[in-house]
Amino acid sequence: MSHVLAAVAWPYANGPRHIGHVSGFGVPSDVFARYMRMAGHDVLMVSGTDEHGTPIQVQADAEGVSARELADRYNRVIVEDLHGLGLSYDLFTRTTTRNHYAVVQELFEGMYRNGYIVPKTTMGAISPSTGRTLPDRYIEGTCPICGYDSARGDQCDNCGNQLDPIDLIDPKSKINGETPKFVETEHFFLDLPALADVLRQWLNTREGWRPNVLRFSKNLLDDLQPRAITRDLEWGVPIPLDGWRDRTDKRIYVWFDAVIGYLSASIEWARRSGEPDAWRKWWSTDGEGKDALGYYFMGKDNIVFHSVIWPALLSGYSGEGSRDGEPGQLGRLNLPTEVVSSEFLTMEGRKFSSSRKVVIYVRDFLQRYDADALRYFIAVAGPESNDTDFTWAEFLRRNNDELVAGWGNLVNRSVSMAAKNFGAIPPVDPAGLTETDEALLATARAGFDVVGDLIARHRQKQAIGEAMKVVAEANKYLSEQAPWKLKGEDDKPRMGTILHVALQVISDANTLLTPFLPHSAQQVHELLGGTGVHAPMPSIVAVDDLDGGPAYPVLTGDYTVGARWESVPLEAGRPLAAPKPVFRKLDPSIVDEELARLAG
Ligand SMILES: [Zn+2]
Repeated sequence: MSHVLAAVAWPYANGPRHIGHVSGFGVPSDVFARYMRMAGHDVLMVSGTDEHGTPIQVQADAEGVSARELADRYNRVIVEDLHGLGLSYDLFTRTTTRNHYAVVQELFEGMYRNGYIVPKTTMGAISPSTGRTLPDRYIEGTCPICGYDSARGDQCDNCGNQLDPIDLIDPKSKINGETPKFVETEHFFLDLPALADVLRQWLNTREGWRPNVLRFSKNLLDDLQPRAITRDLEWGVPIPLDGWRDRTDKRIYVWFDAVIGYLSASIEWARRSGEPDAWRKWWSTDGEGKDALGYYFMGKDNIVFHSVIWPALLSGYSGEGSRDGEPGQLGRLNLPTEVVSSEFLTMEGRKFSSSRKVVIYVRDFLQRYDADALRYFIAVAGPESNDTDFTWAEFLRRNNDELVAGWGNLVNRSVSMAAKNFGAIPPVDPAGLTETDEALLATARAGFDVVGDLIARHRQKQAIGEAMKVVAEANKYLSEQAPWKLKGEDDKPRMGTILHVALQVISDANTLLTPFLPHSAQQVHELLGGTGVHAPMPSIVAVDDLDGGPAYPVLTGDYTVGARWESVPLEAGRPLAAPKPVFRKLDPSIVDEELARLAG
């Protein structure tokens, strides 16, 4: 048994989630966390909405609301999106809590004391007509990297690169069109070169990562420059140093504060659990957390923050770079075990784009289809290690041919036949099991090691493939054994045996599929006459801020209940529930309907 941290990328609170987002960070992390819990590990799965930074402030300005109001709105929307998919967060919180501010400031101060955060004079923009600082979001110009003509002072939305206002070609104030003047101003920088050696040593000890992720991460170390971690901006965490604390024009940069969320959310979870130090079991290098494992889930555009920036912050805070130093009051903190990055999902051959309406939002999807239908698609055809394409035709085919005709049909015909002929789990004929019966049961039992090992190593596509092979074997077995032909009274014991074997294999396959398809797994469990919670689900709970800020909703749950990762023998005579289909067959007309929606 290990302590396992499942650290899931923080969605930016500027809109609802689309299925591209959740196929990268959302569903794969939930599959992993569910499996690890079932296998007996002590899992802590945390995340939250990332709510600071220029884009939220810009959008709020455009709508005439405050940044906080905009963040409140989308925090709630995103919590509901993730809840609808059954993502089993121990805590899904947000970056605007007072707890988060305090933890971010503690890391900043610790790194500053150790010399890994240094002040630096740079050129900042002011308005020539007023003499006042021009926040990043009010400066626009041409991106020096890709040539996009509406890049902002802090980043280019076209190529995604981080910029400084002075980098922009032909910068203009968005307020009055004037050309900003650049004057000397002070900002704080993360001294990444002083942490390069410790990062390299750490990356050189990583094993089992997806090869492209490790290669990409190592390449990032070749050209590490000090990186600005404060901005000219009002919306963010204040800089916790004398002379800076009360300034309203400079804030800690959003990416610095957001990655610290993994730690602050763990601390918040522990404080809410009534055991305020419990987070140390996943984090403390020198204490009870020294053998803990930490897995970070994200899309590939976020690798740098998790394989360079976050480990750099942790190392600097722990006093482990070339400037040495002392750990801060939280103690030495664990670096990630593995950065699990997925590739991109496209939609009908195009990049997802909310502005160009190439998008399907999670909430719209869940109004028309079941969560497990999407979870299944993501598991079998998602962007695990290659970019993949979501098409409605493929979604329909996967749903109807594999989920409904493969798994759903196996459950449906076996349970129906057993219910009709026996009303319960049938007994095994005293004459015993045939070699064929034994072989199928053994295949299902062997699935636990095979599928479990693949999920633990983040090979989810292969893992669900192995689970579905058990389903296919069981369907083949039923077709060959044809229990429906065994109608005579003399044949009934054999019919019972076949159905007993089939139901046992269904029960095992259902457990193997539970991390992927938790909603339907609960239903199958109940069809087999099971009671209680098989696959625990998260709930949305309104909580008070622990330190006096405004209340907010979190996702949380009790996941100590539920099935274990093992074959549980079915007891003959256990009553079966009334059969009903577990999955919905979709009409082929949905493809044209959905394509028309996309076009419209
Ligand atoms: Zn650009």
